[in-house]
Amino acid sequence: MLFEEFGFDNRILKSIGHLGFDAATEIQARAIPEAMAGRDLLASSKTGSGKTLAYLLPALHRVYKKKALSKRDPRVVVLVPTRELAKQVFGQLRLLLAASRFTSILIQGGENFNDQHKQLQKDPHFIVATPGRLVDHLKQRHVFLEGLELLILDEADRMLDLGFAEAMRAINAAASHRQRQTLFFSATLDNTQVSEIASELLREPSRVAVGKGF
Ligand code: ADP
Ligand code: MG
Repeated sequence: MLFEEFGFDNRILKSIGHLGFDAATEIQARAIPEAMAGRDLLASSKTGSGKTLAYLLPALHRVYKKKALSKRDPRVVVLVPTRELAKQVFGQLRLLLAASRFTSILIQGGENFNDQHKQLQKDPHFIVATPGRLVDHLKQRHVFLEGLELLILDEADRMLDLGFAEAMRAINAAASHRQRQTLFFSATLDNTQVSEIASELLREPSRVAVGKGF
């Protein structure tokens, strides 16, 4: 499937062109239409299969096409397990947002808390975060998630392995808008802890598993 065929906003097609990609990978071809339709998604596929764009592109499309639910709150939060992954995802997002008016910040553990607070005060549209540090800012009321439209969990199984279950739940509870959509990616789905938290966070999700099947 070609990226042109998804019905993306033209600005998105342009940024994909800059990345030099024409055709979607299998997880992208199957996950993107579900996400664009506004449905919650429970997805798995192996490392290197292109999951980052499978969630970033529908996130961008939603932000371009729809009016924000709130002026103050972030529109999209991407949770990732590690600082390295946070940097990678943030780098991709920055490239995709380069020609747009939308802003993004990186909130990860180990970096200066006050600097992050200042960045949050500018009301960014997108936040890429590790769960523990985002919860620290939520508790300090540096950020509010009532108007959040899209919550994305990348490598959810690794976040659970790293002990982020309670942080994931706290973020889920704070992102309380009825219209919130959730995209949940995990290397494995046949794991009790993963299916438990998925059932708490997702509402009637579409399931996409590449290379395994349910
Ligand atoms: P995953 O999260 O599934 O491990 P990534 O999103 O990190 O995979 O993507 C792996 C690599 O594939 C990256 O270098 C990315 O730029 C590249 N990639 C993503 N989508 C495509 C595509 N449609 N065509 C070619 N390369 C792609
Ligand atoms: Mg990945």
